[in-house]
Amino acid sequence: MSEEKRAKKLSPARFEQKISRRDLLKTTALTLGSAALPVVSCSGGKVPPRKIRERVIILGFDAVSPVLLREFMDRGLLPNLEKLARDGTFTEITSSIPPESPVAWSTFSVSAQAGVHGIYDFLNRDLQTYNPRIASVKPVYPKFLWDLIPLGRPQAIKLQTGKPFWVQAAEHGIKSAMLEAPVAFPAYEVEAESLLLSGLTTPDIRGTQATYHFFTTDIYSENIKDTEFGGKLSVIEFDSHGRAESTIVGPWNPITRQKRARLMDELAKRRSQGAIAAELVDLNRALDRLEKEDFLTVPVVFTLQGDRSRVTIELQDQKITLARGEWSDWIEIEFSLNFLIQLKGITRFIPMEVGGDVKIFMSPIEIHPDEPVLPISYPPDFSARLARKIGLYKTRGWAAETAALKELKLDDKAFMEDLDLIIDKREAMAFEILEHERPNLFLEVFSCPDRVQHMFWSLVDKGHPAYDKDRDKEFGNAVLHVYQRMDTFLGKVRQRFEDEDTFLIVMSDHGFSSFRKGVNLNTWLVKNGYMKLKGQDDPRYNLKDLFGGGDFFVNVDWSGTRAYSVGLGLIFINLKAREAQGIVEPGQEYDTLVREIAGRLKDFRDPEDGVRVVHNVYLGREVYHGPRIDEAPDLVLGFNQNYRVSWQTALGGVPPEVIEPNMEKWSGDHCSVDRDLVPGVFLTNRKISLPDPDLRDVAPTVLKYLGCPVPAEYEGRDLFEKPAV
Ligand SMILES: [Zn+2]
Repeated sequence: MSEEKRAKKLSPARFEQKISRRDLLKTTALTLGSAALPVVSCSGGKVPPRKIRERVIILGFDAVSPVLLREFMDRGLLPNLEKLARDGTFTEITSSIPPESPVAWSTFSVSAQAGVHGIYDFLNRDLQTYNPRIASVKPVYPKFLWDLIPLGRPQAIKLQTGKPFWVQAAEHGIKSAMLEAPVAFPAYEVEAESLLLSGLTTPDIRGTQATYHFFTTDIYSENIKDTEFGGKLSVIEFDSHGRAESTIVGPWNPITRQKRARLMDELAKRRSQGAIAAELVDLNRALDRLEKEDFLTVPVVFTLQGDRSRVTIELQDQKITLARGEWSDWIEIEFSLNFLIQLKGITRFIPMEVGGDVKIFMSPIEIHPDEPVLPISYPPDFSARLARKIGLYKTRGWAAETAALKELKLDDKAFMEDLDLIIDKREAMAFEILEHERPNLFLEVFSCPDRVQHMFWSLVDKGHPAYDKDRDKEFGNAVLHVYQRMDTFLGKVRQRFEDEDTFLIVMSDHGFSSFRKGVNLNTWLVKNGYMKLKGQDDPRYNLKDLFGGGDFFVNVDWSGTRAYSVGLGLIFINLKAREAQGIVEPGQEYDTLVREIAGRLKDFRDPEDGVRVVHNVYLGREVYHGPRIDEAPDLVLGFNQNYRVSWQTALGGVPPEVIEPNMEKWSGDHCSVDRDLVPGVFLTNRKISLPDPDLRDVAPTVLKYLGCPVPAEYEGRDLFEKPAV
């Protein structure tokens, strides 16, 4: 929205107010967003960049599989990757335990296993409630003076520990640029005039990974509530003029949150003083009223055009008309917290149906790169500077619309069009920075190969239960397409930016495997006597009644539960003095129990065909060490090919069956698969001297090449070192 357009829309009085508000923001620096961040360009940066000839370029292609890469190379489909392999090195690289992106990229960046960086999975659990929570970031809500002015900075706290090698390099004068830097949200200061744009784990404006909106007239085929992945479903109804109004749900309202907390305290206090229900009516009513204001919202209006072939979308002062299957350009949204503070985001719309029923998809609201509400880059204005050069871009780490495609709110074509746009922008960023900033260390991670493989693996694995011939005809090359885009990009980078002093690395953090069957680990724990459900001893219930109690352990009887699973393939012991309702004694009882469970899981066979379901089970105490060992899972499963932990298990659910066929579009995975079965790829333009690289080896190798000291706590090796004789 331009300033002129804004001026036209606002009355003179409101415009005055707007200007003074802006000034206020600048002077007080008390916004929720970028103005609250340190102005680094003048205050930060103690280490000046050092001029050296060496340059390292690392292109991270998330989840590229050595199996597929070889196959495509052999068919001559990836000429640039093939040439790189010929010029230097192409080998597999050992991933992390477990081989999940946040864990693997953390292991890569701080050259250590999870006992050091503390990221064991996407999810962690709350020791009080046992509920899952995000492992990499903790949100911090600000307090508001007079429910109006934020005191301090509402931020997210990065829970990863250890020192990323780019931080070390920059401290030694290496100008670095990290684009889509993995597990680097919130963004932090980096020396030597370096640049950082946060990648994987950067959330949308609501603090989630993917809250999309789906507006539909079809109340029969849609289940009208929030989807499993957090999508917002809204029923719309068109009036006789073909007009329908609805609401876009934005971020939490932190002021409401604060007011609510106060009223809740008051309520508790009055109750403890013996107040009866009738005396608390007003308080309860006030709380009910606040519930409606929990989230910031903005209105949206849809109007069908005459012949019902197109729909017009009006939002704030923007108006666009779209046909079925047509993506809009970026639309800006401003959520007003109060007259002081606005939160800005960007989104895109696409009508999926218009003629009969109307179904309109709105992508998750990205944090606006021009005025980010949370720190997504360093320096803080870097995200805006990039947007001025390459146009608006998605700021979410996992930017592809996988959740929407999984939940069938988008179709394959719309998904792939969006994915291509994401890649276009990621490429444009790379060229912009390599060309104009000339960093000596450059890293960019592309999550797109990962995303496309998750969604289209059932076309790679023709034996997948969700294999679909018609889909294969049209989208059978979706995965190849993205591999080829990476190949073309690599070719351009080599041609434009590689000279004899350049050390170029192309790598993935893990590979890929088929996800034919989902395993409900909690159900396995119940059936094997390690987890107890409420009423299990009661003869009036059979097990069927007890299962399926939904997510978050609602049916679990903790007083009889020795082990439970949260996250993607982690098992925790219900340990005394650690878990709130722990029953297992530390020491011998614990040791015997973890070994017993590990042994039984290794013997666990698929009743359908007798295939071993689990390839390996790791004991947390054995594979992890370091300052964060106390947070380690007690057991980490490595499933066999074709198996993965179920979605419900990841969220603490206990569905009735142990093994279920996976019929979804989300048909390939690597999470919870044994890391030996899903290594990543490692290609460089030089020959390395040590065999069998591990993700931890990249950081020391790069630092040595750039002439920087390697931190003592790094666990990896310099791959150019002469092998011991
Ligand atoms: Zn990954």
